[in-house]
Amino acid sequence: MNVLCLVELDEAGVTDASLRALTFARSLATGGPAAPGATGPVVAAVAFGPADRVPASLLGRYGVTEAYVVEPSALDGYAPQAWARTLEGLLSVTLAAAVVAAGTDCGSEVLAHLGALTGQPMAANCLTASPEADGTLAVSRQRWAGLLIEDAILDGTPALLTVATDVVPPVPVDDAADPAVLVHEPDLDPADLRVRAAVSAGRDGGVSLATARVVVGGGRGVGGPDGFAPLEELARLLGGVVGVSRVVTSQGWRPHTQQVGQTGTKITPELYLACGISGAIQHMAGCASAKHIVVINTDPAAPILSRADYAVIGDLAEVIPALVAALKERA
Ligand SMILES: Cc1cc2nc3c(=O)[nH]c(=O)nc-3n(C[C@H](O)[C@H](O)[C@H](O)COP(=O)(O)OP(=O)(O)OC[C@H]3O[C@@H](n4cnc5c(N)ncnc54)[C@H](O)[C@@H]3O)c2cc1C
Repeated sequence: MNVLCLVELDEAGVTDASLRALTFARSLATGGPAAPGATGPVVAAVAFGPADRVPASLLGRYGVTEAYVVEPSALDGYAPQAWARTLEGLLSVTLAAAVVAAGTDCGSEVLAHLGALTGQPMAANCLTASPEADGTLAVSRQRWAGLLIEDAILDGTPALLTVATDVVPPVPVDDAADPAVLVHEPDLDPADLRVRAAVSAGRDGGVSLATARVVVGGGRGVGGPDGFAPLEELARLLGGVVGVSRVVTSQGWRPHTQQVGQTGTKITPELYLACGISGAIQHMAGCASAKHIVVINTDPAAPILSRADYAVIGDLAEVIPALVAALKERA
């Protein structure tokens, strides 16, 4: 079957979550029946941004056979309904029977709009999808922040799916060929642009929280807004970014864009250094996919210790400066 995949770009290029979504889209395309008259399944990708920022060879390595780019001259910045309208327009061009996006805030919002525009149901946070003989799609997906796995049947064409960002690994293909990158002019209504992002949240050194390899997390134990300066320094020395618990954002110590968890960002770093965070279930929903969790906490009974690879039982005010000094010495 032909599948259309929304590809998100950041300063570093195609996001890791989108590479995972492309892997998922490719397996869906090759697992389903071919489109009428087609020689093979099409995995079409659409990205929003300047054409020269769309890496054709990388997309080819992830199985993309057709790449469409919507340039800023046609549609500048994030506008969820306009992006969904663009995907709707590309359905007839690509003959896609399914549309896939990463289960990020952006992917989920755009596909929800596409569901409203097409009148089709959408399944969020999918882990697997396989076509059934009766034309429906059997999906398994995360519910309740990953605490529950649901098996469901998705009945509707096009099938609209977002991919759980932290579970499906990104897997390139062996025999890759670069797709042609085609500039696409979407047919938009002025009403599609009524809601659009005017300002983008800044990123630390071009790295987003969702894709950072190292995240230094700070919770209530940091003590207040001023307590984050040492964590920022530690994150910089480790080449990472700062993430926080909800207590921290609720208190207004840091912006919501830095929140990790069920109602924040899901992170998948190599290292999550959780400082003064107790490990509430809603927080762990956002960081459980970290490869290694290292905890600094004064409480040896804090729940997060049961998920930690290593822990330092101690006061942040002493441990962080010691860590910073040791890293500086090594540098
Ligand atoms: C619907 C819902 C959604 C939610 N979504 C999220 C979410 O997305 N993300 C999220 O994080 N939370 C979320 N929460 C809130 C969550 O339940 C917890 O309240 C929150 O995660 C606790 O934050 P914390 O660990 O920073 O604070 P606390 O639970 O108060 O823990 C502070 C920790 O710091 C340690 N500490 C204190 N002083 C020091 C020190 N000097 N040095 C070292 N350690 C110290 C303490 O021992 C303790 O373990 C949600 C809650 C609900 C109901």
